[in-house]
Amino acid sequence: MLDPYKLRSEFPILHQEINGKPLVYLDNAATSQKPLAVLNSSRDYYERINSNIHRGVHRLSQAATAAHETARQTIAKHLNASRPEEIIFTSGTTDSVNLVASAFGRSSRLKKGDEIIISGLEHHSNTVPWQMLCERLGITLKVIPVLIDGTLDLDAYDQLLSERTKLVAVNHISNAFGTVNNVIHICSQAKKVGALTFVDGAQSIPHLSIDTQLIGCDFYAFSGHKVYGPTGIGILFGKYDLLCDLPPWKGGGEMIKEVTFEKTTYNDPPFKFEAGTPNIEGGIALAAAIDFVDNLGISSINKHESLLIKRTAEIIDELEGATIYGPDDRAGALSFNFKGIHHYDLGTLLDQMGFALRTGHHCCQPLMSRFGITGTLRASFAAYNTIEEVESLGEALKKALMMLR
Ligand SMILES: *Cc1c(COP(=O)(O)O)cnc(C)c1O
Repeated sequence: MLDPYKLRSEFPILHQEINGKPLVYLDNAATSQKPLAVLNSSRDYYERINSNIHRGVHRLSQAATAAHETARQTIAKHLNASRPEEIIFTSGTTDSVNLVASAFGRSSRLKKGDEIIISGLEHHSNTVPWQMLCERLGITLKVIPVLIDGTLDLDAYDQLLSERTKLVAVNHISNAFGTVNNVIHICSQAKKVGALTFVDGAQSIPHLSIDTQLIGCDFYAFSGHKVYGPTGIGILFGKYDLLCDLPPWKGGGEMIKEVTFEKTTYNDPPFKFEAGTPNIEGGIALAAAIDFVDNLGISSINKHESLLIKRTAEIIDELEGATIYGPDDRAGALSFNFKGIHHYDLGTLLDQMGFALRTGHHCCQPLMSRFGITGTLRASFAAYNTIEEVESLGEALKKALMMLR
């Protein structure tokens, strides 16, 4: 059993007051807080081995390179990649999507009239880069519709698939509604028509055990900062043969084999996609975050968070005028509104009482439009949240609703 009270001692930021009230941090889908193991890892890197990687013969450079490559191995193992070369360090999920969209766009795999499929549940960062690619190449973006319960219409998805489909990009868990998508099914259907698959794992990485081979995806992306790691670092998993085949997207140091002014040959994956000095400390601290998750056990984290989210849904459901979005078996995030009350007003009052929740469209404007709303209030959970915090959120909501009605 996970003990969130014991765990909280490892998160210095949680021990503060907002407006004289204890901070209750329920904005974990936007970013998670960092444990001492991660903070210490960053500090230790700069105190002991800071140096540029892969280029130096000297001792510090060797130590930094070894730590950077060990981090890659840790992440490869966590995602059950078949080799560490399938792990590319990026600056985050957004960067990973743009990498694939750009490299894929530069390959000879796309021609006018082809189609890319995304879903109506996507974050803007898994929407706009594909849209930009489609505009540039004259290809068509198709969207899997969202059903009224906040799940994807998978029958409609089957209808959208054809030999014109070249890539399917969906999230694993919706950051807006907490919907868990059946990515195994989505990927296997895509494979039947020969399409590539991209899974946006920004929300699944802190809540689910991820096996890229079981999912059967060609690409899987996530951000460090949503899984107890630092900002400015992220991951793109890609199948090795595919990475060999795709052209690079950014040019610079590290991504080359040999440069002359006439012709440059490119390095092998993953280096082909890692131009320039990377976020070395970020990669190492991200591996510390992944170790932190593995030590707690993702299934205990998931069990604990599921109890919190179920109880939150019960509490909100009992309040007058409440609408909860998304299916009951959600993960990570819970989105809701109250009739006649603006999410922003409620969020502002909650902030005054020490509660950090997100209000607005959650970077999912098309999804909000689908439900005829401008936004929601969203509570999202991490391993360090407690049932006490959930109960106190219920009390705070009652108070705030009374003030607004
Ligand atoms: C946060 C998020 C992103 C974008 O991640 P960045 O860290 O901002 O690049 C993409 N997709 C989902 C589902 C997210 O939750």
